[in-house]
Formats: sequence, structure tokens, C-alpha cells
Amino acid sequence: MEAAHKLHVHCPHCGATNRVPVARLGDAPNCGRCGKTLLEGQPIDVGDADFDAVVAASPVPVLVDFWAPWCGPCRMMAPAFEQAGRTLKGRALLLKVDSDQNPLLSGRFAVRSIPTLVRLQGGQETRRQTGAASAAAIVALAGV
Ligand SMILES: [Zn+2]
Repeated sequence: MEAAHKLHVHCPHCGATNRVPVARLGDAPNCGRCGKTLLEGQPIDVGDADFDAVVAASPVPVLVDFWAPWCGPCRMMAPAFEQAGRTLKGRALLLKVDSDQNPLLSGRFAVRSIPTLVRLQGGQETRRQTGAASAAAIVALAGV
């Protein structure tokens, strides 16, 4: 049996990379280095290997940002996505998927242009928006 997926989460306080089991995402884990709250709403990088486990483990709606490093609008939107994540902390889980590195997910969600934002609830897509969005628009898309 495959080992439990672990996510790499950067501590917003000290910058340390923490490896967090997917199942503990909802347990408000603390940073292993500085001991402060690890999940402050910051977007978490996921991919083909761990996406489904993370979505299944999330008790709140999920917003996925399909992006790529070469995409200018994606990079422009990144700070807005992070800001929206802080606003939505505890009410929605924000994920980032590099569409080039994760072709299975890009294909499954039929991502044709980036950035694309997809909202999932109970594992099902409920809303989608293509093109860069402001933090306020991202919060509105979450609808929580
Ligand atoms: Zn820390």
C-alpha cells in the first residue's frame, strides 16, 4: 500500500518547509521549527500524485489555481491568490497546480488557458473562472 501523501508546506512565519500528512490538513498543525500555526491560508502546491487525496481530506470548498511559471498573468495573480487565501483561511482551501508539470490534472479539468480557477465542493467542480482575477474576485468565487 502506498504511503500516506505528505505535502510540502512553507511556514508563513519562519519560512521552514514542513512535510504535512494530507490527513492532518484539518488539524491546524504547527510549524516544526518555530511552533507557530502552519496553515494561515497560504496556497499549497499539489499535483497529479496528491491532488485527489487533498481534495478528499478538505472539509471546506477547494479553489484550484492552474498556472505555470512562464505565464505572466499567472505570476501577476499570485499575490492576489495568496491574499485571498488569508481572507478565506478556515473557510476554503487554496491549491496551486503547475499545469505543465501535472498533465493528468490539466487534461481532466480540460484546462485550455491559464490562469484558470476551479472551485470544488465534495470533489465536484461547482464554478470556474479563466483569466487573472483580483483578490476580491477570488474570494467571491469561493462563495463562502
Ligand atoms: Zn515556522
